[in-house]
Amino acid sequence: MRHLIGRRLSAFTAALALGVTGAAVASPAAADPRETEKTPTASGYGGAVSSVDPEASAAAIEVLRKGGNAADAAVAAAATLGVTEPYSAGIGGGGYFVYYDAETGKVGTIDGRETAPAKMPHDAFIDPKTSKPYRFTPELVTSGVSVGVPGTPATWERALARWGSLDLGDALKPAIKVATRGFVVDETFRQQTLDNKARFAAFPATSSLYLPGGDAPAVGSIFRNHDLAATYRLLAQQGTRSFYTGPLAAEIAATVQAPAKAPGTSLPVPAGFMTTADLADYGALDQAPTQVNYRGLDVFGMAPSSSGGTTVGEALNILDPVNLSGMSAAGALHQYLEASALAFADRAKYVGDPAQVDVPTDALTDPLFGKERACQINPQRAAVKPVAPGNVDGYDGVCPSDAAPLAAEKDTENISTTNLTVADKWGNVAEYTLTIEQTGGSGMVVPGRGFLLNNELTDFSTVYDAKDPNRIEPGKRPRSSMAPTIILKEGAPFLALGSPGGSTIITTVLQTILNRVDLGMDISAAIAAPRASQRNTAQVTAEPEFIAAFGKELAPFGHRFTPSGDAFTSAAEIGAATAIEFRPDGKMVAAAEPVRRGGGSAMVLNRSR
Ligand code: GLU
Repeated sequence: MRHLIGRRLSAFTAALALGVTGAAVASPAAADPRETEKTPTASGYGGAVSSVDPEASAAAIEVLRKGGNAADAAVAAAATLGVTEPYSAGIGGGGYFVYYDAETGKVGTIDGRETAPAKMPHDAFIDPKTSKPYRFTPELVTSGVSVGVPGTPATWERALARWGSLDLGDALKPAIKVATRGFVVDETFRQQTLDNKARFAAFPATSSLYLPGGDAPAVGSIFRNHDLAATYRLLAQQGTRSFYTGPLAAEIAATVQAPAKAPGTSLPVPAGFMTTADLADYGALDQAPTQVNYRGLDVFGMAPSSSGGTTVGEALNILDPVNLSGMSAAGALHQYLEASALAFADRAKYVGDPAQVDVPTDALTDPLFGKERACQINPQRAAVKPVAPGNVDGYDGVCPSDAAPLAAEKDTENISTTNLTVADKWGNVAEYTLTIEQTGGSGMVVPGRGFLLNNELTDFSTVYDAKDPNRIEPGKRPRSSMAPTIILKEGAPFLALGSPGGSTIITTVLQTILNRVDLGMDISAAIAAPRASQRNTAQVTAEPEFIAAFGKELAPFGHRFTPSGDAFTSAAEIGAATAIEFRPDGKMVAAAEPVRRGGGSAMVLNRSR
């Protein structure tokens, strides 16, 4: 069921309307009401940001206003999201940072994905008591065994070193301010806390932070996180070595190896294998982006270990020869759904961590391969799903004879995560998706440190198969779907976008690009439009609004729909995108969700030139 999603109230309004209640409450005068107002679209000059949260967007604008660049502002916004969106992102997780550097005209990326511990065995997800795979919920989701070595602190440090002008201490200042003075709890934060209540209650460190007095913080109350402020200060003073080595690293490893459960909890919480050596060994990686050309636009994405860049890129290559803008809406959507299914078939067969698996990234993003895959699309009729993967070794752009369909794959990626887009006056653009995987991650706060650990290793396949590119291996990064994307037109930024949503991230980014480039929508409408996600399954997952709008017209093609939503949370939405579009006259249009996740926050530095 779709939950009621309130707009984040300004501290001022909340104080007037609701009084100030809740365990973590302080005087609302401490919060700046301007920083909690939400606008989904803003256009102007000199810099722009779009995120899910007004505090994070305000942090980015503050940094830009003081002369920081897009990398500085993206780190400041991400750190603030660690405070205000702690169930989606934070220093206990990982992510992917894509950056257009105006000086060089090049797009570069940082892979800050979590890694498996060096001692993680192939059968880590098999219950030793039963010799059967752990259930996804509750055993794997709430566990030490699913916690990957966090990559987010290293990503921030690397992004600043590579492109930024601030040091980490200065970039963390706005987030430390928000953690200390607090933010106003909205309906989304309360609902996400309630969705997690049972498992948060299983860990004293988590319940004392997020269930003060035994309940989720009240809507309108002010939530402070002094422990996180102190952890950020530690990082500010000593750099990220204070996270990856020393007492904090020891506490992270101890939490993973021996989760501190509340007495009497019935949650099993399997222990994990992470050691302090795993933390000390972690490195965020510079990666070349994926690149495809779609209708004359250069589309740069995140290369493996994420499947985002190859899968969005392959689908665009499949669709490039098709005149979507000349078709009926249903005809174009049919093509979109079919191209997506084909790209997902190849993702499953070929994509994993390139450090440990031979990933054919060049083939997957080769227009000739896309052309050959497009042979599988019947413009009148949906293929039987799942469709088979293509052959990356022997393609020549000529239609092959029919391949046998495969067994259906189970998709266990969750729908947490957050995304942000920032641009500055010099023309630099940052597109950053970060996550702790599940909403609420592993459910385990590192005691006294104010942040949740991820459960990202659930993104590995549960059962080990030596042929599966996403099998568990020690030190490996699990395959991601995160798809931060920057699109250039004639060498200059045209559009930057990304989204949360597990494997629906890929379809959300793809559908938003098609909406904007082919289907005549402006960027705000492209984000707001109802979504459908075909990930090579018998039924298309779609938002109820999409089914209402297009279900009838798509039925004759053979598409069958199932409404979106998952068993764990009460949200029925697909994705929560952010974007910035760059107009030829220098105007930036920042766009966020008008409704999903309670609505996002777009801001610009100056409304006029
Ligand atoms: N773990 C997912 C991934 O890396 C992201 C989780 C989500 O978006 O909810 O693709």
